Amino acid sequence: MNNNKITFNHCTLLDEVGILHPNQSIVIENGILTRITSDKLEGFDCSGLIVSPGFVNLHTHAAMNIFKGIAEDVSIDAWFNEEIWPYESKMEERDVYLGTRLAMAEMLNNGVTAYADHYFSPKAILRAAEEMRIKTDLAITLFGFAPNYKDELNDSIDLIKTNNKSSIHLRLGPHSPYTCSPETLKEIATHAKALGCGLHIHVSETQSQVDESIQNYGKKPLEIVHESGCLDVPCIIGHGLYITPEEYPLLQEDSIISLSPKTYLKLAMGLGYMPDLIDDTHYAIGTDGAASSNTLNPLEQVRLLGLLLKDVHKDARQAKLEQLWRLLMKGHEALPFNSGKLKEGYSADLIFWDLNKVNTMPVYNPLASIIYSANETNIKDVMISGAWVKKDQRLILDETLLIQEVNAQVQDLLERGKGKAKVHF
Ligand SMILES: [Zn+2]
Repeated sequence: MNNNKITFNHCTLLDEVGILHPNQSIVIENGILTRITSDKLEGFDCSGLIVSPGFVNLHTHAAMNIFKGIAEDVSIDAWFNEEIWPYESKMEERDVYLGTRLAMAEMLNNGVTAYADHYFSPKAILRAAEEMRIKTDLAITLFGFAPNYKDELNDSIDLIKTNNKSSIHLRLGPHSPYTCSPETLKEIATHAKALGCGLHIHVSETQSQVDESIQNYGKKPLEIVHESGCLDVPCIIGHGLYITPEEYPLLQEDSIISLSPKTYLKLAMGLGYMPDLIDDTHYAIGTDGAASSNTLNPLEQVRLLGLLLKDVHKDARQAKLEQLWRLLMKGHEALPFNSGKLKEGYSADLIFWDLNKVNTMPVYNPLASIIYSANETNIKDVMISGAWVKKDQRLILDETLLIQEVNAQVQDLLERGKGKAKVHF
């Protein structure tokens, strides 16, 4: 939280629905936008810059950043069982801590001010979140079929009860309907209701998950998730590509599906029913973990989504710029951080865009420049709760030290991870 009052003038604001408002002054007090006006106020000159809400990465496994590039050009089954899991199953707290810090640094550089994580070792993640100041919504991963499931559930409940940080939200993260039975999902949903927290779960990522669900339970995955009560609380759904048109009406107002098209392309997962169902009500953008998508950049994901939708529908008028921008902003609604709008009373979680560069000039249409041309070098400054986390294109952290620490940890992890996985599901 920043207690100083900061004023910016001559800002061009880009709001959450993609509309530009030139020549505005904004005042930030105690991390909150307290005044937005066309009056000229004394303050930092933002001439030539565009100010927008920060981005949300609505689905990732941040610690997996430490596996970026470890498993390439393999099938989706081999990717997990042969390449990732032997290492992931032997991960220790410090791997999670440093992998998460690395991920957070990349996200901040890409303008991400809040993100939704789905992982284990919550204490290591919470430590990284406090140090890096990115707003963190952490779903503590629960595998219903794991032998230590009950202990993990009880530990998660204790942690959720004791969290008192406004920049951190904790929720329960049942991994998926294929690693948790319907009874387990029901138990987890009951706890979420009692705790007043949300859920975050993977649903219908592939057609084979749907087929197996029908075989095992006579129902599709979202039907099971709905019947178990998981959609009675705010629920983030990872991927949901193969949710069918018949299941779609089961989604509640606060059920939001997070899409990561780079992962789908890379692992040849197809797009399922998503291209026909996608709308501004139930879909937002995430990156998935860097082990599958290699980057944690929501802008890259939405760009790929736009191109895919145009191609799938064989219609260049599909996936309009404003729709893609709204999908980028939608994630804010799934998170309890009072962010995502340039309005008085909202948190000052902001990106300051500099489009006066060779890759984005000339700027006829700023939204087109951002969505189809921009990269992290156009993100001049990033603020979270009114405090700079990136200033003049540099992160406010010791990048050299972070890189050294990650390199040392990777050597250790490679040594430890050799051979078979520690546990099998
Ligand atoms: Zn995932």
